[in-house]
Amino acid sequence: MKILVINSGSSSIKYQLFDMKSSRSLCKGVVDRIGSRRSSLTHQKGNKKPVQIEVKAPEHQRAMEDIFAILTDPKFGVIKSHREIFGIGHRVVHGAEVFTEPTIIDKRVIRTIERFNELAPLHNPPALLGIKASRNFVSNIPQVAVFDTAFHETMPPKAYIYGIPYSFYKQLKVRRYGFHGTSHKFVAHQAAKKLRRDIRGLKIITCHLGNGCSIAAVHNGRSVDTSMGFTPLEGLLMGTRCGDIDPAAVLYMMEKKGLNTTQMNDLLNKKSGLLGISGVSNDMRDVLKSARKSDKRSKAAIELFIYRIEKYIGAYTAAMDGLDAVVLTAGIGEHSHYIKKRISEGMNQFLKRFKARILVIPTDEELMIARDTASVIRALKR
Ligand code: ADP
Repeated sequence: MKILVINSGSSSIKYQLFDMKSSRSLCKGVVDRIGSRRSSLTHQKGNKKPVQIEVKAPEHQRAMEDIFAILTDPKFGVIKSHREIFGIGHRVVHGAEVFTEPTIIDKRVIRTIERFNELAPLHNPPALLGIKASRNFVSNIPQVAVFDTAFHETMPPKAYIYGIPYSFYKQLKVRRYGFHGTSHKFVAHQAAKKLRRDIRGLKIITCHLGNGCSIAAVHNGRSVDTSMGFTPLEGLLMGTRCGDIDPAAVLYMMEKKGLNTTQMNDLLNKKSGLLGISGVSNDMRDVLKSARKSDKRSKAAIELFIYRIEKYIGAYTAAMDGLDAVVLTAGIGEHSHYIKKRISEGMNQFLKRFKARILVIPTDEELMIARDTASVIRALKR
């Protein structure tokens, strides 16, 4: 059984085709710079060297046609006909409170996702373009939307309600949603496998540390709290995002510097975090390097980065009243021995008391989307 996974952004569409029996990726690639004159398709078949092909992709529909064409290309392709594709899984960032599970896409589902465009203006509209383009192209293959927020929809109200007038939650849906759900779910299940335990009965804290960073408390396989909130700005310190901050500080800065909402949004999302504190880079590797050369601000950025993670691990252990494992994943979590060492040394006594282990587990959001897609379609056909 083969599943195609699509991740459609504003100027690029990523794709990956999986063989589900072996969980192996048959090919993957990306169409970049959609809408510009220099769009290109980078395609990798299995472990072979990636090839780059110039394509004309003035909009998503054309980019999608190029993707479907390369899949069956005599030289670069991996299937003979599109009929070999059992289902297509689309990554969608925001499912709001409606989509708590991966969902078969039909016209009604598309209209509902459109209603949430306001909640994720940068991400949901391009995902919809991808969904529509692929439905135009292969209308007979079942397609599934897999939402970044869905895994966290099991959070109890005490974890997702903000301390503001309730009418803002009821009318504007201002509440905590959480993101990176597909990644947290994938690594939590991998952790249970690694521990040879049923996920029901485990208390796991998953730390997704990439450019964006979030942490989740996973109890019995369900997310009970997570650090990102209404948007992906809340919580841990990230590459360019500030994470937790007193909202009054934001208002004070706006007033003192005469910043409007767009400028302030830009400052908090793009100029803060590791970059803002260090002044060096948003990339952890660069900040670590400059800290090793005794750069004070880089050191401060790294200390704050680690401290927040430790605080959240403490808080989520209390929230679950116990802890079996902490999982580190994504770019920083998978590759930085230093960050892992600092957390395990800094929390040594704490982790010992709970007999909890720190596990490094590579995330694979695409494979998780493929698995979710396969299981939804299977259930439908049953
Ligand atoms: P994205 O969120 O864009 O998918 P990644 O998961 O690839 O990002 O993570 C990117 C982050 O991982 C960057 O901050 C990068 O510096 C960091 N990273 C990658 N390799 C290492 C490493 N060996 N040591 C420390 N940080 C690393």
